[in-house]
Order: sequence, then structure tokens, then C-alpha cells
Amino acid sequence: MSVTTPSKLQKIMATGAFAVTSEVGPPRSADGKAVEEKANLIKDYVDAINVTDNQTAVCRISSLAACIRIKLMGLEPVLQMVTRDRNRIALQSDILGAASFGINTMLCLTGDHQQFGDHPKAANVFDLDSIQLIQTVKMMRDEGRLLGGHEFDVRPQMFIGAAANPFAGPNVAMRVARLAKKVAAGVQFIQTQCIYNLDKFKEFMKILVDRGLHEKVSVMAGITPMKGVGMAKYMQKRVPGMDVPDEIVRRMGGVPKDKQAEEGLNLAVEQIEELKGVEGLRGFHIMAIEWEEKVPEIVKRAGLYPRPQVA
Ligand SMILES: Cc1cc2nc3c(=O)[nH]c(=O)nc-3n(C[C@H](O)[C@H](O)[C@H](O)COP(=O)(O)OP(=O)(O)OC[C@H]3O[C@@H](n4cnc5c(N)ncnc54)[C@H](O)[C@@H]3O)c2cc1C
Repeated sequence: MSVTTPSKLQKIMATGAFAVTSEVGPPRSADGKAVEEKANLIKDYVDAINVTDNQTAVCRISSLAACIRIKLMGLEPVLQMVTRDRNRIALQSDILGAASFGINTMLCLTGDHQQFGDHPKAANVFDLDSIQLIQTVKMMRDEGRLLGGHEFDVRPQMFIGAAANPFAGPNVAMRVARLAKKVAAGVQFIQTQCIYNLDKFKEFMKILVDRGLHEKVSVMAGITPMKGVGMAKYMQKRVPGMDVPDEIVRRMGGVPKDKQAEEGLNLAVEQIEELKGVEGLRGFHIMAIEWEEKVPEIVKRAGLYPRPQVA
């Protein structure tokens, strides 16, 4: 039985409607207004706003600071937290800090390796991995205890999420097995890596449903609109763990350059429409990288607007 929290995302999922989230990538400067501007672009079209944690291992405004800003705007942030940069003291401290501002949804991640970011010589921490982070948040929430043993009264009421990549090696069944470990650790919702190979994703979901995991965890499909054939080729060849079928690259390249962005949006909308029929799927996580202004159009065209209201 999943623990109930004050998380709006959890409440939306409880209505049975498809949940919709999108992300804000914080800026590489102290420009806090940029976070607010991006959040304002999408706020009426999503149930919660993920804030990435130094994604691609590139240094930015911290996820916690940006989430507090979004919370103060009266919106629902999803605190993304990677274990790459902070040890267990810092992670637990940030969870307590987030909860003290009423942030109650988080995504527990290992994080992109620093070697690929803008500080390749940075020391990595990885004191905990994503599964241990999930266990830690669950312990703090359900037992009121820190890893060091200290017990406390005011507990973080976190709806606990994590990521899954159905397309990483060695095969789909192993990706479900890794997800099952996260479920056993206490994860309640999953946001997946960007999906372009729909057949492989359906295979992933079938194994997940056959194992009954959809009864224990709410899976949201990751959707990233392509801006052009250049992005399609880059993701196909350069981004590890990404599965972009040749037909997508051909389709994006088959329209004139000035129509490719529109084709990318068409593709994203079609993908959502098709995935709505997949058993066990509970929502969509739209990662429109530096293209947040297109989220409203995708949500509307995919028939996911207006968003349900919850108390
Ligand atoms: C929705 C979403 C949001 C993301 N947001 C961010 C972000 O904000 N910041 C950022 O830096 N990155 C982010 N990423 C990237 C993500 O953190 C990386 O892709 C990372 O490699 C996988 O993270 P994870 O938490 O899913 O990995 P995990 O499931 O924890 O696994 C990490 C990798 O190591 C392997 N691994 C881990 N432990 C073991 C083990 N014990 N034995 C064998 N193999 C193991 C896994 O198979 C996997 O390949 C995001 C990814 C997604 C899908």
C-alpha cells in the first residue's frame, strides 16, 4: 500500500487521470528570474514542475533553490536530487530543507557522470546510489530517522520518484529488474528516459505489467520533442542509452529545415496519443530541453488539457 503524502502529483494520479509533468532546467548563472519565467510558461499545463539537478553534470542554480522559488510562486515543484555531488549528510540535509518549505515530491537519481560535464576533473561522491537514496527518503518519511540514527518528529512528507531507462543495456528485462529494485526500495513513481522506440517501450511495459509492478509504481513516459534532424542524429549517435530508430531520423530529415521543428512537435503528440493505450502507464513527463514554450501546445494537442483540479 503506497504511503499517501500531500503531493499534488500523487493526488492527480489517484484521480485515475494521466498525470503531466515537465521540467525546468535552471540557468548557468544566478538569474533566478529565468527559473520563474520558465515555470510561468508551463504552469497551467502541468501538474508539477521538475527541476533538474545540474543535469549533464553542468553547474547551474541548485535544484533546491529553484524548487523553493517555484514553491513560493504557489506551484508544485519536483525536487530532482542526484547522488553524484553530495554525501549522505548533505543529501539528508537538503531533503529536510526542502520539506521545511513544503516541497513534497522528489526524484532520486544517480546522475550523469561528471566526466561528461563542464567540470570533468571534479571529485564525484556517489556515497549513496539512487536506490539507497530512495531507501533513505523512505526511512526519513516513514520512521522519522536519519541514516546516522538520529530520530526526529517533523518528517518530510515526500512522494518518492526515480528514473528508469528502458533502452539502456543489456536488455529490456534487466531494465525492469532494476526498476523492481527501486520499487522494493520504496519508489512510488517513475519518470522514464526519452522514448523514441515505442515498440521497445511497449515491451518494457508488458514485462512490468506481467510482474505486477504497475500496481505498486506509477510510470510516466518521458517525451522529448525533437527540434530538427540534427538533434535526432545527435541523440541517435552521441547520447548513451538513447534509442532513436532510423525511421525517426528519416522522418525528421524528410521535411524542409524550416518545418522540422513542427514535425518534431507532431511526432511528440503522436507518441503521446499512441502511448495512452499502453497498459499500466499513468502519465507523461515532457522534457522539452530549452523549448519550454512548446509544452502548452504539446499538452493541448495531445488532449491532456485542461489539467484536473485537486484540493
Ligand atoms: C527523468 C530523468 C531525469 C534526469 N535528471 C537528471 C538530473 O537532474 N541530473 C543529472 O545529472 N542526471 C539526470 N538524469 C540522468 C541520469 O541520472 C543518468 O542517466 C544516470 O546514468 C542514470 O540515473 P538513474 O538514477 O536512473 O540511474 P540508476 O538506476 O541509479 O543507475 C545508474 C547506472 O549505473 C548502473 N548501476 C548502478 N548501480 C549498479 C549496480 N549496483 N550494479 C550494476 N550497475 C549499476 C545502472 O544500470 C545505470 O546504468 C536524468 C534521467 C532521467 C531519465
